[in-house]
Amino acid sequence: MPIRQLPDTLINQIAAGEVVERPASVVKELVENALDAGARRVDIDLEEGGVRLIRIRDDGLGIPPEELPLAVSRHATSKIASLDDLEGVATLGFRGEALPSIASVSRFLLASRHRGAEHGAALEIDGGRVGEVIPRSHPQGTTIEVRDLFFNVPARRKFLRAERTELGHIEDWLRQLALARPDVELRVSHNGKPSRRWKGEGDLLSEVRLHEALGEEFARNTLHVDHAAAGLRLHGWIAQPVYNRASADQQFLYVNGRAVRDRSVAHAVKQAYADVLFHGRQPAYVLFLELDPRRVDVNVHPAKHEVRFRDARLIHDFVYRTLHDALAGTRAGVVAGGAT
Ligand code: ADP
Ligand code: MG
Repeated sequence: MPIRQLPDTLINQIAAGEVVERPASVVKELVENALDAGARRVDIDLEEGGVRLIRIRDDGLGIPPEELPLAVSRHATSKIASLDDLEGVATLGFRGEALPSIASVSRFLLASRHRGAEHGAALEIDGGRVGEVIPRSHPQGTTIEVRDLFFNVPARRKFLRAERTELGHIEDWLRQLALARPDVELRVSHNGKPSRRWKGEGDLLSEVRLHEALGEEFARNTLHVDHAAAGLRLHGWIAQPVYNRASADQQFLYVNGRAVRDRSVAHAVKQAYADVLFHGRQPAYVLFLELDPRRVDVNVHPAKHEVRFRDARLIHDFVYRTLHDALAGTRAGVVAGGAT
């Protein structure tokens, strides 16, 4: 075959392979966009585990009608404009890839009214074919509907699991988000019935939300940590050693508000617990690490599940030291208990 330039729709479908694995990834991308737009409340309506329908409605800034086609164009973003912006990025999104990718593998509708604009508008895309912008009434904010995910990509559709499984992945991700953003109200419905509501509560993660997300036992056995040094701050809740898990299912780490997995930080936490937990048991925690965005590269992974720290060693030691000190009281207890 001769070399040829691929059509846009196919390029978007290839990119979708990286960012859109299943309905939960669509929910993640769309809710993150709502948060970047300053939403205070996000409504998430799902049908059949999100496979049939995902509808996300927010009360954020909205999109002006003339920018709707751009919002669904590849590499178009309002969040960065230069390499310098990228290096200090504080928003969840910045790649300008999610909407065109999702729209290329679904039946997609975007409707919005920008703050201050008199009228709303909407744009439909069917499997990547972009329609015309048409006027449409809409309250301030944005609604996105994603129907029949992967209807045109049978190879992907085949990998979708049962409704309950897909719903479970969505709920897991929403729980992770609810822990990081107690200030935002989230309402979820599934197959027309309200299924979950996270009430907006203010900026600090309350024990109520902690309890709702991780259960009463976790909430009853936590230590609050909040320590800052060397331009780093680590705060959140860690479980006392008496509360521990067989698996790492209650380990939540956020770097500048973004949920990530990080082996080095996970290792530091494990080390801090080393002498207070039985071998093979896992600690539970919800930890927020805050630092200058310039000290962390978030552009490592298309779905942004990982970050790279400029001074990984320093961060490892800071996390270890902070948690080790926080656990000191419980450690004394263990030693005293062991001696008697
Ligand atoms: P990114 O989030 O990386 O910028 P997306 O493809 O997710 O890329 O979104 C493209 C653009 O569309 C965003 O930069 C933003 O300007 C706009 N946008 C998307 N969703 C929303 C929303 N819910 N509210 C306001 N603007 C939005
Ligand atoms: Mg985005």
